[in-house]
Amino acid sequence: MIEVKNESELAKMRAAGKVTAAVLKRMSEIVAPGLSTLDLDREAEKTIRSFGATPLFLGYYGFPGSICASVNEEVVHGIPKKDKILKRGDIISIDTGARLDGFCSDAAITLGVGKVSDEAQRLMDVTKKSLYKAIGQVKAGRRLGDVQHAVETFATQHGMGVVRDYCGHGIGRNMHEEPSIPNFGKPGTGPVLEAGMVLAIEPMLTAGTYKVRELSNGWTVVTQDGSLAAHFEHTVAVTANGSEIFTAFE
Ligand code: MG
Repeated sequence: MIEVKNESELAKMRAAGKVTAAVLKRMSEIVAPGLSTLDLDREAEKTIRSFGATPLFLGYYGFPGSICASVNEEVVHGIPKKDKILKRGDIISIDTGARLDGFCSDAAITLGVGKVSDEAQRLMDVTKKSLYKAIGQVKAGRRLGDVQHAVETFATQHGMGVVRDYCGHGIGRNMHEEPSIPNFGKPGTGPVLEAGMVLAIEPMLTAGTYKVRELSNGWTVVTQDGSLAAHFEHTVAVTANGSEIFTAFE
């Protein structure tokens, strides 16, 4: 069952969303060659705690960081590390979340480190746009499949691989609630969206194959062909007229 949040719950989720938005904003300000992914993680945790919030990812199934930091061919769940140093031309996907007053928010962004290749820029642009295409389908009365299909269609039209093994999700008191939201699907299928549902929509696209594998550390997911991957995510509430993005900062 997909939970419908009431006004006071939505207000708390909105507040939690502002924390995660602030982290992504901060990350986009500081990402630069020479920084380690652990440096980013430390700064993210500091930002989250400055709001009196708790890092949502830290300790989740034992995950050691407050962000997932996935560089280049890494798709998701990259572990922040002291010796993972960003280089000019890298792209880094930063996924993070916060818990505030009992409610969660979850969002992700992919950033270029200095100037990146045209291919990398195009992948980031298409992935970000595919998220907004999906959000454009969110409205009470629409079906979840409409949202999923929007990502798949846009990504495929632009020649990008759509990662199938990882999905978006409902969110609320828990990071992962029903429904599961794959980045592909058929329009007019799936649950009917209702105002008050809150969804974490998160396209993960690649410049090559959609196929991924997990590294032996048990976390980091990479593309099987070594192609670049990008990831954008927002926590989004369904409203009568459309949607409200809780984690927006731009
Ligand atoms: Mg998520």
